[in-house]
Formats: sequence, structure tokens, C-alpha cells
Amino acid sequence: MSISTTVNISCPSCGTSQDVRLYDAINVNTDPELKVALMQNQLNRVECIDCGLSFRVDKPVLYNDPALKTLIHWVPENDAAGREEILEEFEQSLEKMNAMMPEDQEAPAVCLVLSRVELVELIFMLEAGLNQRVVEYVKYSIYTRNSEKVNPKQHRLLLNVQDSTEEEFCFVVQNAATNELGELLRYGRAAYDSMSELFVENPDEFMDMFPGPCISARNLLLEEEAYEA
Ligand SMILES: [Zn+2]
Repeated sequence: MSISTTVNISCPSCGTSQDVRLYDAINVNTDPELKVALMQNQLNRVECIDCGLSFRVDKPVLYNDPALKTLIHWVPENDAAGREEILEEFEQSLEKMNAMMPEDQEAPAVCLVLSRVELVELIFMLEAGLNQRVVEYVKYSIYTRNSEKVNPKQHRLLLNVQDSTEEEFCFVVQNAATNELGELLRYGRAAYDSMSELFVENPDEFMDMFPGPCISARNLLLEEEAYEA
């Protein structure tokens, strides 16, 4: 089941207010049209009844595709809530959720993403059966080896599953401030495959690197940088 609430929203351009239905949680199994809307950047998008402006209302959305066996929580990073604050709040609510679970039942896997592009990337990744921690490990090495081209402060590195091949992964560099997509980087699939084998043999190293719900090389690098400073 998907969950929505009706909210009164003012147009950021002309100020006209209207009641709109916004989604807090989407189940793409029962409501597949909401997945289409998300992919087309139409989810929680409002068109002003007066001036016609189309704008997206950024609010936390829980993405639930039972087939993925992972709940993905999209909590948009904005001026009011910074990255650290979101992560902290999220950890707290996860602890509460785990505490509420009956003892014989395992809590579902929950991931956190901070932007829509990261959400879409993760959906494709999980649908393709890829290991998110290994993919982020690959990104971590790309970031650290090409620090001039891809700097975590300015760029996001996104895996483009659709343009990846049997031989190569295709990553795209995105400008984190403007969201503009830039250069493509290719990475041999063989290296990913051997890292996936390492993961199966000894997942601890990967778990230590990405222990929390936010499995993100960029986030890890930004944290490391903040720690050093
Ligand atoms: Zn308007």
C-alpha cells in the first residue's frame, strides 16, 4: 500500500496556494504507476493552478518494492536539514524500529539515499542484482585515484546500469551543485566481479567501510575529509 497526505502548498513563484496529494511511501508492487512517476521525476510534482509552474515538493519518501527485499528511504538533503543531521535522525529512527520488532522476526534491510538520482541509481543497481557495497567500494577507488576529475565535494559518481555492458561498468560524473551530468568513466567488470568474490569470502571489510544505512562512497569521503579538518 502507498501512503499519501493532502497538503496545502503555495507556489514558489506566484504564491497561489492549493491542496495537493503528496506521497510519503510508495509500494511499487501495488501501485506500479508511482514507480513510473518517480522515474520520470513526476512524483510529488505540483503544477500551479494559477501560473502553471511545475515544481517538485521535496519530502521524505519510503520506496518499497517487495521484490528487492530492501526498503529505500529517500530523505532529500536541503537547506533546513544537512547531511549529518539527516544521518543522525535516521540512525535513531532505525534503532527505534529495530527495538519494536518482535524477537523472532528480522527487521527489513533499510537503505538511505539523499537525492532522487541516488534513489533511481540504487533501484537499478538492486534490480540488476548488484552488490551495493561492492559498487560503492569501486566508486571509492575511482574517487581516490582520479581526485582531479572527480572530487566528492563537487561531484557525484553515479553508476549507469542501463549503459553498462558485460565487460564494463559505465559511471557518470554529476555536478552535485547543478545536477548537470558530465563525463563518463568506464570500469572493468572483471575487477568488480573479483571484489564481489572477496565480499562473499570476507564481507567484514566492506561492512566496516559502509556500516550504516547510507551506503555511499561519496558520503564516506566527505566524512573523512570533515574529520581530518
Ligand atoms: Zn504559481
